[in-house]
Amino acid sequence: MANALTRVAEQTRAASLALYEFGTSLFNPTVRLGVTGLSRAGKTVFITALIHALLRGGRFPVFEASNGRIIRARLSPQPDDAVPRFDYEKHVHALVTERAWPESTRQISEIRLVIEYQSKKGALRELTLDIVDYPGEWLLDLPLIEKSYETWSAETLTLAHMPPRKALAAPWLSHPGLAPSAPEDEDHARAAARLFTDYLRACRDERFAMSLLPPGRFLMPGDLADSPALTFAPLNVMPDSEAAPGSLHAMMKRRYEAYKDVVVRPFFRDHFVRLDRQIVLIDVLAALNAGPDALADLERALTAILECFNFGRNSWLSTMFAPRIDRVQFAATKADHLHHSSHDRLERILSRMTDRAVARAKFSGAQIDVVALAAVRATREAQVKRGANLLASIVGTPVAGEIAGGKTFDGATETVIYPGELPATPDGFFEGKGNSFRGLASTGQDDADFRFLRFRPPLLETAENGAPALPHIRLDRTLQFLIGDKLQ
Ligand code: GDP
Repeated sequence: MANALTRVAEQTRAASLALYEFGTSLFNPTVRLGVTGLSRAGKTVFITALIHALLRGGRFPVFEASNGRIIRARLSPQPDDAVPRFDYEKHVHALVTERAWPESTRQISEIRLVIEYQSKKGALRELTLDIVDYPGEWLLDLPLIEKSYETWSAETLTLAHMPPRKALAAPWLSHPGLAPSAPEDEDHARAAARLFTDYLRACRDERFAMSLLPPGRFLMPGDLADSPALTFAPLNVMPDSEAAPGSLHAMMKRRYEAYKDVVVRPFFRDHFVRLDRQIVLIDVLAALNAGPDALADLERALTAILECFNFGRNSWLSTMFAPRIDRVQFAATKADHLHHSSHDRLERILSRMTDRAVARAKFSGAQIDVVALAAVRATREAQVKRGANLLASIVGTPVAGEIAGGKTFDGATETVIYPGELPATPDGFFEGKGNSFRGLASTGQDDADFRFLRFRPPLLETAENGAPALPHIRLDRTLQFLIGDKLQ
């Protein structure tokens, strides 16, 4: 009953917001574009590059409106007073002037652009683009809404016993004093939450690169750090067990429910339902660096993310948060770490994962697209002769501290690197053997099959209109899919 009431309330609230926004959009067409992805997937860099592209121009052959029909774009005050503004000026200064990567996304932020353009029929028009940047980890919280504390605990513990998580979970799982029937105790709750968070953090380390690590705020608590709503952890309870009043179990269950009320529902109700278009950035290369377990975990996370857009099937989701996203693009980021001969191969790996997720989730909802891109291209290409062979290599300045072939880079020296090639078909990655390639989780830096180094941002290039532009790979394809039809 309580659940049904919550649904009606959420629905009414979302409906009135949607009506208001529909009214305003009749006069001033607005697209709300969600940009998400797990931590370090490339959200901040992507948004900065996208805004730079629209404000300053660049080479975008596939973004059809940019070939002479965009008159100008400008930043404009955003509509939501309570959401921090995306700090474009600071990020672009870091990227362009300092040639340093900007500070990553830690919370939701928003920025508004107004694009003045000429329609295909020659009329002068304006499109307002609201870009909403939010951590992909928040999407992975969606299943919690319909899940009891006991079921969530059991599932989280099962996952924690799988490799490579098991070794990382040992300090948490072996901690004494976490008996569900023990009396409720703040110190025990805090210890459990701390150990559980340490476990999640260890899973995210680049050697393991796990993706499915809910609850999303545990690793990015923002202003909720240390609040009771974030001071809980799974306990070893049966999925259908009752919590005895006054027990640690009851205390954790209460806080888990508070997390849903304070964190999860407000995000879906106030932000997610208002998005029209969505791009999900995915660091496939980080998973390849780490190994087969990381790739399998990324696929699990992708399925969970896809469920958020599965409005056709997921009836409880669509009654509670009637969403309106009609296009979703999944983008493998940092394609500039590879020679262009591997870009399509990277796209194929992500396509395979997305296809499998679509089939598993019986997806029907938005239109889906997959791309491999680099919002900022930090490398050039070169052919290097090794013996009788020419190796398709890349040239860039590795970030200070990166290590390869026993050498530590200083962040100032340009280097030619042969990044290796991705296989022509991704079959080998998905045959379920779990040992199809060697990653950092099981071997050393120099023996891993894939090792993608981080490079410093590039110097600007000169666009066709003579303006300085950030080099990119396939950013134009992304712009065309996400907003091209709105600029007809
Ligand atoms: P966020 O956590 O999703 O906001 O991730 P960021 O946008 O801060 O990106 C994390 C890191 O990934 C950056 O510091 C860069 O090292 C790298 N990165 C992101 N996008 C690109 C790209 O287009 N090309 C290259 N070479 N590196 C990128």
